[in-house]
Amino acid sequence: MGKKIVLLGAPGSGKGTQAALLSEKLGIPSISTGNILRAEIQGKTPLGLKVQAIMDAGKLVDGDLILDILSNRVSQADCQGGYILDGVPRTIEQAEKMEKAGIEVNCVLSINIPDQRVVDRMVGRRVCSACSAPFHLESAKPKQDGICDSCGGELVQRKDDKAETVQLRLDVYNAETAPLVDYYKGKGVLHDVEDQPEISSVTDAMLTVIEG
Ligand code: AMP
Repeated sequence: MGKKIVLLGAPGSGKGTQAALLSEKLGIPSISTGNILRAEIQGKTPLGLKVQAIMDAGKLVDGDLILDILSNRVSQADCQGGYILDGVPRTIEQAEKMEKAGIEVNCVLSINIPDQRVVDRMVGRRVCSACSAPFHLESAKPKQDGICDSCGGELVQRKDDKAETVQLRLDVYNAETAPLVDYYKGKGVLHDVEDQPEISSVTDAMLTVIEG
């Protein structure tokens, strides 16, 4: 059975960064429903137009829509050997729907990080407008200001990373998503990972759990 991993953690806890690193090390794809939705918005598709206002406001998109997107993605050939889910499920309801749909999860990594550090991270975060690679104005600077190291794309601030939306997203996380920690604990698949200043130390801690 492949590794079917969920990364749990507040927005700005480093899920996207770790998902990319784990994906490379483990050779399985990382799937971010947020990135998929942002691509739809950028492409001005009907789905993108539908979700744009909700996402900009930092609220959660409809769970059935998310499940459709996820089912489609995990049925693709590259997910046969496993996957890393980043930002999904976001609610217990989504987790239950995934289970019913046969989307398996056998390892949940929960990143513990204080709220204040999350706020600092999100406000300083910049992402590549072309490939979604994450950077930070202080802790993960690009080699050249405003330019993506990986693809040369332009770095932008996500609309929902503006200071006024960040607190709301944290509130949504604490109310809707944090209960998944106990949910997955009950299923015997939850592992806590402490946030650390070094990105690679967090990755190493995760790999120890995954390979252990
Ligand atoms: P993220 O990139 O994971 O921080 O997601 C950005 C935004 O996309 C969220 O604030 C939601 O509006 C939407 N979104 C992403 N994943 C989900 C999900 N699983 N359920 C509901 N909304 C989601």
